[in-house]
Amino acid sequence: MSGYSVVVADNLCNSSVEPLRRIEKLTGQPVTFYNIDLRDEPALENVFAQENFDGVIHFAGLKAVGDSVTNPLGYYDNNLLSTIVLCRVMARHNVKQLVFSSSATVYGIQASPKYVETMAMAPVNPYGHTKAMIEQILADLCMSDPTWRITALRYFNPIGAHPSGLIGEDPNGIPNNLFPFVMQVAVGKRPELIVFGNDYDTVDGTGVRDYIHVVDLALGHIAALEHDPEPGSYATYNLGSGSGSSVFEVVDAFKTASGRDIPYKVAPRRSGDLAIYYADPSKANRLLNWKTAKTLADACADGWKWQSQNPNGYAS
Ligand code: UDP
Repeated sequence: MSGYSVVVADNLCNSSVEPLRRIEKLTGQPVTFYNIDLRDEPALENVFAQENFDGVIHFAGLKAVGDSVTNPLGYYDNNLLSTIVLCRVMARHNVKQLVFSSSATVYGIQASPKYVETMAMAPVNPYGHTKAMIEQILADLCMSDPTWRITALRYFNPIGAHPSGLIGEDPNGIPNNLFPFVMQVAVGKRPELIVFGNDYDTVDGTGVRDYIHVVDLALGHIAALEHDPEPGSYATYNLGSGSGSSVFEVVDAFKTASGRDIPYKVAPRRSGDLAIYYADPSKANRLLNWKTAKTLADACADGWKWQSQNPNGYAS
C-alpha cells in the first residue's frame, strides 16, 4: 500500500467491477469507479470536475496484436483518441502528471535482443504502432508545454497475480498470451498448450521473453509517480528483469509451482513473433530506484494461487 486514494475510470470492454471489489477487500479502502469510455470527453470532464487528481496512470488500451492486425481502425481509434481526450481534459484541469502504459513492442526488430531506451522505435504491427504514436504525442506535448511531467513505461511480459490469489488475469475468450494459456491448461480448462515454434535460434528452440511479475510492474508505476523529474520532461523506462526465459522454461516453472502436468503440442511459428528479446532495465534501476524483486517461480506460484482459486476467473 502506497497511501494513494484511487479513482478508476474504465469502459469495462475487457474487464468487470469484480476486481475493484476485491481491491477494496484487500486494501480496506473504497475505490471510486466511473464506468465511462475515455473517448467520451463530456463524461471524462465530469470525472475531473468531481475529483481532485495529483496524477493519472493511463492503462486504457487494447493490446492484442492479432486483433490489431484485423481491426487496425478500432485500435487506432481506441488507443490514440483515449489518450488525446485524456490529455486535453487533464490540461483543462491543470493535472499534468501522467504515467503511460507503453510496451516493449515499440522496439520491434533491432540489431540486438537487449532493448535499451535509446534505440529508435520500430514497431511491426498496428498495436505497436499505436504505442509508438502515443509516445510521440506525449513527447511533443511535453515539448509544447513544460509544465507537463510524462513518463512512458515500456512493459516487457507481465505475468503472475496478486499473492493473495484474489486478483489476477481473466482474459475474454481464448487467451492470446502464453501465461494465461498455461494457467488454463494447468487448471483443466484447456486440453493442451500450443507452442508456437521450437526452431528458433534460442536455448531450446522456443521464443524467449523477459517475464515480469505484475506486482513488480505495479511498483514500477509508483516509482514513476514519485520520481521528480525536471518539469517539461518526457521520459521512457523499460520495466523488465533484464533476462529472458523460453516457453519451455515457463512451462517447467509452472509445472513445478502447480504440481500439474502441462500437455503441449508444437505448432509452426506465430506470424510476427521474434525469437528473443529482453529488457536492459538499468535506466529504471538507476533513475527510478526500481528493480524487479520477484522471480519466475514467484509469478508461477501466485498465478497458480489465482487460477486454482478462481478457475473461471472473476465469474468463479
Ligand atoms: N506462445 C506460445 N503459445 C501460446 C502463446 C504464446 O508458444 O499460446 C509463445 C510466443 O510465441 C512467444 C512467447 O510465448 O515466444 C510469449 O508470447 P506472448 O503472446 O505471451 O507475449 P508476446 O511476447 O508475444 O507479447
